[in-house]
Order: sequence, then structure tokens, then C-alpha cells
Amino acid sequence: MAYEVLARKWRPRQFDDVVGQSHVTQTLRNAITSKRIAHAYLFVGPRGIGKTSMARIFAKALNCATGPTVTPCDKCDACREIAAGTSLDVMEIDGASNNGVEQVRELRDTVKYAPTHGTYKIYIIDEVHMLTTAAFNALLKTLEEPPPHVKFIFATTEPEKILATILSRCQRFDLRRIPVGLIVDRLKNIASVEKIKIDPDALLAVARGCEGGLRDAVSALDQLVSFKGADIKEDDVLSVFGLASRSMLEEMAGSIIKGDVKKVIELAASLDGAGKDLQRFVLELMGHFRNLLVWMYVKDASGMDLIDTQVECLKLQASMTNHERVIRISDILGETENRMKYALSKLTLFETALIKCSRAATVVSIDEVIRQINALKAGGGVETVHGGSMQDDSVSKTSYVDASMKVHVQPAVKAPDSDAYGNDEMDLLKSSWREVLDKVGKMAVGSKSLLLDARPTCVDGNKVTVGFDPEFADSIEKFDIPRNRKALEHVLGVLLKRSVTVELKAAVQGKEERAEGGSGITTRKLVPPPAIAKGQAKTKRDLIDDPTVQKALDIFDGTVMDVRE
Ligand SMILES: [Zn+2]
Repeated sequence: MAYEVLARKWRPRQFDDVVGQSHVTQTLRNAITSKRIAHAYLFVGPRGIGKTSMARIFAKALNCATGPTVTPCDKCDACREIAAGTSLDVMEIDGASNNGVEQVRELRDTVKYAPTHGTYKIYIIDEVHMLTTAAFNALLKTLEEPPPHVKFIFATTEPEKILATILSRCQRFDLRRIPVGLIVDRLKNIASVEKIKIDPDALLAVARGCEGGLRDAVSALDQLVSFKGADIKEDDVLSVFGLASRSMLEEMAGSIIKGDVKKVIELAASLDGAGKDLQRFVLELMGHFRNLLVWMYVKDASGMDLIDTQVECLKLQASMTNHERVIRISDILGETENRMKYALSKLTLFETALIKCSRAATVVSIDEVIRQINALKAGGGVETVHGGSMQDDSVSKTSYVDASMKVHVQPAVKAPDSDAYGNDEMDLLKSSWREVLDKVGKMAVGSKSLLLDARPTCVDGNKVTVGFDPEFADSIEKFDIPRNRKALEHVLGVLLKRSVTVELKAAVQGKEERAEGGSGITTRKLVPPPAIAKGQAKTKRDLIDDPTVQKALDIFDGTVMDVRE
């Protein structure tokens, strides 16, 4: 027997064989059993999900020698001719190539003749949206007053292009994309009958690659057998379709959410190096972030057609980011997918988009800022932002890409009040230390020279530790008299806006202690303006110290660059 391609061999022949469209098959069965058959049907849906197969089964059901019946016999002349496409009573017309008014007129001329064998004369017009307006109008005449023996079955991927007057004369059925699980089951069944050995991950990859189109999935299986023989692994499928593995996709999404640009670029390079279809990857990434967003809103993956490990990944990633960020990432990916069709260098566009996404995953949106301001107004603390916060002090916020490379993911910790700002206050103390010394020196004569080799080393709540160079450890004793201590505590208290006690100890210079609770918290930098002239320093310092300015710096995680009058 001649070789028959799998897609043809396994094309559904009965309503029962149609996968994933029970809402349509059930209604058609009911129409047949109750003898309430309309003049025109319209099957709508993406390609490869069974529209024309459904039309043929329906035609057989109507014209079978045993029919009209819900189970056409597949043996009578009518059934066999319809299956072979040679029936004189069932005409399959491709709307794309017979779209002119002339063809429709010819069709109209044949309509008036009675069927040769069967009960009905059935016109199946595929891609009916391709008909010209004139052709539609010509068709409309027949649709308005069809002879009782004539039935029309239209199929289309783009129902919005069909004239409303035509649509209103059809019973419309929307066929669904077939869930991945059902495609996998069907492929498994075919593989076992055809004696093809294929592992479950490979089946999943085929189903994923065909986006809910069963015909494409079966054709893909055929192609894989020709390519790899009858033993197929996931890698074979991925390489044939240029797909990336599920784990790769999830790793990329995770790296974007963390704002880890370095990792993102590495992954992009390895995808490109392995010859993966980058545009396809962007589409899949969009799908992933779409699922993530749905998960974040509904916390239910039952409608998402995902396997368990995929759901686990969504849960984890949802805890690392927020809605606005995911929406922004999705927007960037959508725009990129569009542009990639025309891009000369897909890799460049791909990498740029991924960097943008990583950025979108870490920068604070205006919405978030407004929310935080409102939280402040309401007397609450500043919300700790989930996901990548800028942590590395050495990185400037203006140099964006470098900054993201050093971003670490923070657990969603609410900052514990004052201690949380230990690091920021350390920065403040260090940068203001000269001023502190001047002020202390003025209040307590002789104290300044003793403090010249001392530095602030730690802020922990109300305690400020001042470390003295061990070489000058005897300065501690000399300095530590009530008057000096009081002066220092007073000046530091003014600076930190609360009363503080001072601890004096010998410490290796340049080494800082970490305040408890101060680590792992978003660092806010506070750098004195470099351009300030000495004489004006005090007023400008006061401006910077103003509580409103401080709050603004906190909210925007900002740095004072300059103070202008
Ligand atoms: Zn039959």
C-alpha cells in the first residue's frame, strides 16, 4: 500500500474523532437527529484545528446512504467520494483562489440542479473571507433564497472580513485551539499505533510547537519520523522546530525579572548559537509573561493548559515581581515581535528587547511612586519594592545597563524602621564627618584634634560607633570626657535627627561594621553636592536635610546632584 502521510491518514472521519471541539460536534449531532439543519454554517477558528475536517464529516453525515445520520458509514459511495474529494454533490471550493464574482456566478448556476446521488448539494467554501465584495454579493442572492436541497458550509480564519449580511445568514461555530494536553494524548495514540517511540517531553514539545493545531502537530510527527526514525527525543523536536526548551524559557523569564542583564545576554547568545528561532522565542516568552500575569491576578492555573512544573515556576516568579512590571515587559515583547519580522539583525533587536525588559523589570514606575507617596501620606512606611532593587553603592543609577547587571533580587521584606537605614546614615555620617568635627571642635575645645584619626564605623539604632585608628588608641581615653562626648553626641544627634549615644573603640581604618538588620535592605545614597562653595555649605546642607527633600530622596532612591538657588 502506498505511503500515506500521517495527517491524512489520521484525519478525523467521525464526529467522535474530532479532538477538542465537542461544543461544535454535539450541536451538529443534535441538528441532525432533530432534523433541524440550517442552510448555511460557518466554522471559525485558527488554521489546522479541524474546520474542513468538521465540514466533511458533516457533509458525510448529511449525504451518507444511511443518513442523515450522526455516524456516517464511511463505506457507501457518498461517504467514500466525499472523503476522497470526488463527490459531485459535495463541492469543496477554495475561497482564496476562486474569489471572483465569475466563480460565484458559476456556483450559483449549479445550485439549481438537484444532487446526483445524495440528499443534499453541499458547498464547502474554505477561506471564505477571501471572496471579493462583488463575489459576496453574488453569493448573498443564493443565500437569501437557497433551494431546499442546498447547504453551504463556510470555513474561515478571519470572520471579521466577512460581510455582515452573509454572517447573519449563517449558523456560526467557533472552533477552539486544541489544549496541549489533548494534542499530547492524540499524538500518543497515533505514535503507539504507528509504532513510533517518542518520550513525553518530546510530545509536549511537538504540541507546544504547533500552538493548538492538531493537523500541524501530526504533520510534525511525520516530519520527525523522516528525520530521526522511529525513536524521538525532546532535543530532536526542539532542534527540528528551532524551539528552546521549556527550562531555557523559564530561566530567561527569571533572569529578566531579576534584572540580571548579564545572564540575559548570555542566554540570548546561547539561543542564537544553538540556531533557535528567536522570533518564536519572543512569542513564547510573551506567552509565559501572559500566563504569569493571569496567575498574579487570578491565582488559578486551571484554565492555562500548563503542566505542574510550569505552574510552580509561575508561582515563584510571581513572588518576585508585580503586575505593572509584567505588563511593561509584555508590551516590550509584543512590540519586538512585530519589529522582528522586518529586522535585518534579529539578534540585535532580540538582545535590545531583553535588556529593555530587564530594565522594565527593575525600574520603579510612576504608579508605584504614587502608591508609595500615598502610603507615606497615610502614615505608613515606604513600601519595599519587590524584585531587583539597586543595591550596589558603586553603581550610578544613570548608567542603566551596568546598574542592572549588579542587581540582586530582594525578598519582599518590609524595612524595619530606623535600623533599616543604617547604611544610608553611615553614608551621611561619612560624608558629613568633616562638618561634624568642625562643630564638635567649636563646642568642646581641643576635641577636634583627637577625632582627626577617628571615623564613624557603625550606626545601630540610637548607637553610633566611632572607631579610632589603633595606632592612636590612646586618643580614645583623652577624648572620652563628658564634655567631648556630650558635644559629639549632640552634633551626631542633630545630623541623625534623634538622640544618640556614642561608643568609642579602636578599629582598623576603612573597615565598617554592619548594623544588625541593615544588610539586605535597599540602600539609599545620600551624597553631598560636590559643587557647593564652602561658605554656603551650611544653608545647602540644611536644604538637603529638609525632611521633604529626604522623603523625596527615599521614594525615588535618589541622590542630590546639585543644589541651586
Ligand atoms: Zn455512508
